[in-house]
Amino acid sequence: MKINFPTDSDGYLSQECPSCAQRFKVRFGEGSEEPISFCPYCGNKGHDCWYTQDQVEYIQAVSTGVVLSPELKKLEHEMKKASGGFLKIDMKTDLPQVGAPPMETDDALDVLRFPCCNETIKVTRYDRHFCIICGKEMDMAATDAKKVFLSHKGIDKDKVSDFRNTLQLLGYDPWLDEDAMPAGTPLERGLLQGMKDSCGVVFFITPSFKDEGYLETEINYAIQEKRAKGERFAIITLQFVDAEGNVGEIPELLKTYVWKKPKTSLEALREIVRALPIAHNLVDWREGIDGVVTVPKIKSTSTELSAEATAILKVAASGDGHIMCHKSFGGQTIQVGGKQMIPDQSPRIVALWVGGVEDLQRRRYIMDVGHKGEIFQVTREGYEAADTIPDEETRQQRAEQPH
Ligand SMILES: [Zn+2]
Ligand SMILES: [Zn+2]
Repeated sequence: MKINFPTDSDGYLSQECPSCAQRFKVRFGEGSEEPISFCPYCGNKGHDCWYTQDQVEYIQAVSTGVVLSPELKKLEHEMKKASGGFLKIDMKTDLPQVGAPPMETDDALDVLRFPCCNETIKVTRYDRHFCIICGKEMDMAATDAKKVFLSHKGIDKDKVSDFRNTLQLLGYDPWLDEDAMPAGTPLERGLLQGMKDSCGVVFFITPSFKDEGYLETEINYAIQEKRAKGERFAIITLQFVDAEGNVGEIPELLKTYVWKKPKTSLEALREIVRALPIAHNLVDWREGIDGVVTVPKIKSTSTELSAEATAILKVAASGDGHIMCHKSFGGQTIQVGGKQMIPDQSPRIVALWVGGVEDLQRRRYIMDVGHKGEIFQVTREGYEAADTIPDEETRQQRAEQPH
C-alpha cells in the first residue's frame, strides 16, 4: 500500500516531535538514507514516530479504506445472499470517507543542512539544533561564525583593503578589525566579538613590522578562539618578503603556530583560502568539520501564482470567500460565488484548476475548513494577496503601455 502526501513547493514534508510537539520539515528521498532518529529541537530519540497528527489520521483513514473495505463489502455481499428472500438484512458498510491528504503549506522556516549526515531540513531556528540522523548537537552561534578577521596592524591599509575586496568577491565575509567596529565601541570588546564571529584570523606581517606588542590583544584573542573552536578556527600568519628579501618579525606569541612566507599577493591569497575551515562560494563547512549550513529562505513564496489560482482567489475574495470543490462521475467542479470555474472537463484543464486550489492552500491563502478538500475559505493572507495581485485587465493595460 502506498500513501502519497503533498509536499510544500520545495519538496518538504512536515514532521512532528512526539516529545516537544514542534514541527520540522524533511525532504524524503534526498540526503541521508538513514531514517529520522532525532528531533532537531529537543534531541528526542525515536523511530517511526515523526508523523503529524493530521498525517497519522490520514494514514489510518486510508488503511481502513483499503484494507478493511473489501472485507466488509464481501461480508455485506454474503449476508445478502444468505437472506435468500426470506429474511432481508440490509447492511450498509459505514466507513470513514477518505478525504484529501493534509496539505503542506509554505511556512517561513529556515533551511539547515547537516554536513555530518548530508541531510537538509527546514526548522524554526534556535540557538541549538540536533542532526535528525545522528543526533549530534549543533551550536548555531559557532555555525554562523564564518567571518574572516583581517588584522591590519602589521601592514599598510591599502594592501589589506585589497585582500578584503578580493575575499569578498570570492564569497567570504572578511572583517577588517577597526573598520568594522561602530564608533565608540571599546576596542578590546570589539576585537573579541570580531574574533568570536570569525572562523579564522589573518595576521599580515610586512617587512617593516617589529614585534613591539601592538598585536598582543588580537593574538591573545585569536589563541583563545583557536582553543575553543579547534578545527573551526584558523590562525593564518603571512610573512611578506620585500624585493631585498627583508621580512618582518613574527610576534613571539604566534611562533607556536605555522606561518607562511608568500612571494606574491596571489600566493598569500591562496594560503588564506587553503587554511580557512570554510570552503568558498558554497560557504559550507569542509568535510569532517561539523556545523550547520544555513541556506536562504524558501524560494516558493516568490514564485508567481498560476493564472488559475489567481482567478479563483480573485473571485473568492470579491465574493463570500468560499470555494467549493466537488468530484463526481459528472466531473470536477470548483464553485466560487456560484460560478463553475473549470471551463471544460479535459484532464489537462481540470488538473490546472485543481492545481490552482492546491497552490492557494500551500501558500495558506485559503483554508480547508471541512478538512475534506471540499470547502475552502479565504484566509487573511489570501485577502491581502488578492488585494496586491493586479487583475487581468490592469495587467493587459500595463502590457500594452509603451515603455
Ligand atoms: Zn522534540
Ligand atoms: Zn548527523
